[in-house]
Amino acid sequence: MSEMRLIVAGAGGRMGRTLTRVISETEGAVLAGALEAPGSELLGKDAGVLAGLPANGVELSADLWSMSANADGILDFTVPGATIANVAIAAERGLVHVIGTTGLSSSDDAVIRSVTSRAIVVKSGNMSLGINLLAALVKRVAQSLDTSFDIEILEMHHKGKIDAPSGTALMLGEAAAAGRGIPLAGHSARGRDGETGARRPGDIGFASLRGGTAAGDHSVFFSGPAERLVLSHHAEDRMIFAHGAIKAALWAHGKKPGYYTMADVLGLEN
Ligand code: NAP
Repeated sequence: MSEMRLIVAGAGGRMGRTLTRVISETEGAVLAGALEAPGSELLGKDAGVLAGLPANGVELSADLWSMSANADGILDFTVPGATIANVAIAAERGLVHVIGTTGLSSSDDAVIRSVTSRAIVVKSGNMSLGINLLAALVKRVAQSLDTSFDIEILEMHHKGKIDAPSGTALMLGEAAAAGRGIPLAGHSARGRDGETGARRPGDIGFASLRGGTAAGDHSVFFSGPAERLVLSHHAEDRMIFAHGAIKAALWAHGKKPGYYTMADVLGLEN
């Protein structure tokens, strides 16, 4: 197969710049377009230069329809509104749509799923190998421990992050809930403050810290009578997410339409 032509959405963002760099180092992938928000002061700038590379001749543009005429996939780490706007165009153009954006609502998810009878979507709140392995471990441990073990998920991210809890924390919560055989909705405790009363048995709790430049730390606590098991992952560089997203795009190229996750890409049990 020839090189996969990839568009980076949010090309001026933290993940977008990292994706541009990693694409330039990845055999089998080439940058075909760089999407930014309408009105952004970065429109017209060279994507390579923004990413700290030599100029590559790909200028940031807000016109996905035009840039996608000759592309195979889009790597989308933006904001929910932009991702949802990109879904229809990606489906219409037959692009592989790799969605890393977090903070999507359940109705956003429904929109994404509605196109997957004809579109190829790979979506994950965390594209790294380590976190996807952690999710599999969390599910396994939650299967083995009863509700005398309280499950709490703690995450820390850089001060610029705009949603909480992180998409990864929610993904780990889903894994824990799946291990327990319960839906996460209705069994989660998010954001305790003030006179909360005692912890409700069986809840999966979430707590978020923000500060500095942390690329993403996650710990899952299983706290039982007189013992505590903690499973943790620390992201040291957002390159791990970019490598995962590009791997997902290359994996999905030529696959049947459908909704895939990183567990599918990595061959892990869901
Ligand atoms: P960021 O630095 O704020 O980047 C987001 C970029 O998207 C910005 O450049 C923003 O431009 C741009 N954007 C906004 N609206 C747009 C539009 N309509 N069309 C095109 N681009 C648009 O954030 P980040 O740290 O890179 O994170 C981006 C997303 O990825 C977040 O949801 C984050 O949680 C998620 N993330 C996921 C993973 C994963 O593995 N799944 C890993 C890391 C991050 P303006 O600044 O001009 O608005």
